[in-house]
Amino acid sequence: MYDLIIIGRGLSSLLFLKQYLLTHSDLKILIIEKSKSVENRYISSWQGPGILDLKKEYGIDHDKVYKKISISNEEILIKKNIAPYSYNTYDYKHTIETIFNSIKDKVEIIYDEVISIKEKYNEVNVKTKKYTFISQYLMSSTSLNKQSANNKKMLYQYFIGTKIKINNNHTHDTCQLMHFLHSNNEVLFNYNLPFDQKTILIETTAFGKKVHFENLEKIHKRSLATFNIAKMIKKEKGVIPMSVNHKFQRTARIINIGIHGGFARPSSGYMLLRAAQWSKINKDKNLKDLVFKEKIIINFLDKIFLKACYYYPDKANSIFVKLFNSNDIASVIRFLADIPKLYDIVKILMNTPKKIMINALIK
Ligand SMILES: Cc1cc2nc3c(=O)[nH]c(=O)nc-3n(C[C@H](O)[C@H](O)[C@H](O)COP(=O)(O)OP(=O)(O)OC[C@H]3O[C@@H](n4cnc5c(N)ncnc54)[C@H](O)[C@@H]3O)c2cc1C
Repeated sequence: MYDLIIIGRGLSSLLFLKQYLLTHSDLKILIIEKSKSVENRYISSWQGPGILDLKKEYGIDHDKVYKKISISNEEILIKKNIAPYSYNTYDYKHTIETIFNSIKDKVEIIYDEVISIKEKYNEVNVKTKKYTFISQYLMSSTSLNKQSANNKKMLYQYFIGTKIKINNNHTHDTCQLMHFLHSNNEVLFNYNLPFDQKTILIETTAFGKKVHFENLEKIHKRSLATFNIAKMIKKEKGVIPMSVNHKFQRTARIINIGIHGGFARPSSGYMLLRAAQWSKINKDKNLKDLVFKEKIIINFLDKIFLKACYYYPDKANSIFVKLFNSNDIASVIRFLADIPKLYDIVKILMNTPKKIMINALIK
């Protein structure tokens, strides 16, 4: 019998535990994780004034800090110096290991796959391939027991990334946040993270109504072919739901967290900051009171933006280009980092292409 069982030793679970154990060190907690190894991938986040400091709060070390970003399409290249803000990239495996090592003495962990969950009046039964456990509360970062959002107008962010070594030298102080490629039915772009002069992560991403990895693979290969590659280091793939209807769900005893808990920002799929912020502000709460609330104005703007991507995928890139081309890059970053002030919202509204946004709003 546990006070709390957490399914998954992933990002959202560990961010939560790191904060919650500061105020609830007496709880008997079990983590059930299906995989002993940790995925090798990268995860990025905005940092800077007013944004939750991931190093200070969670002890997470960045792999790379970018003070410059670029946004481009076939006609225009926008380069911005974003200081005092930065775009930081973290090694997912190292991040998971760092946080886990800092809390591992206060929790139990078993490596097994949860196959079913049953909520009863005063407890939750968690069945794994080998055992059955009982707990007062269950926190799940998986899709088990979660009702899917019945949303026909759903977009998926799906991406293929390849980390490569190149023969020639590449500038490595700028993150290519989005280089839009032409597509009539999806928002399509390349996202490049140069780690050093010779090592780059090239990621081809689509916001589409359906996931077409086969087609994306071809586009990704064409993008890779523009580099003089010495070695392919590793590949990563992912799918993140993009919808304002992909909402947080909980019952009396089961709390869904993470990507499956609706924590990801609908318009970008970014989750790290949201999960970190949520964990910090909820550390004093009882498990029975934990809920995840989104900011109404951000959700509203995300909804219009997603509609623009859904109905006008060939034109949606102009929203990003216009936004990033404005002189108010700090407002754009605060908006993307979930901490916009009122005047940031006003500036965002002034700097988005009116016609597409209004058409999307009335759809
Ligand atoms: C390739 C990729 C890149 C991303 N990049 C970014 C980014 O740059 N910035 C950002 O903010 N977000 C990013 N995201 C989105 C999101 O932040 C991450 O996916 C993040 O890891 C989600 O955290 P989580 O806790 O929901 O899931 P995870 O971190 O994936 O953890 C879930 C854990 O649950 C375990 N598990 C699953 N099912 C079971 C089961 N039945 N029984 C036991 N254990 C189980 C899994 O093995 C895993 O360890 C990215 C996602 C992907 C896939």
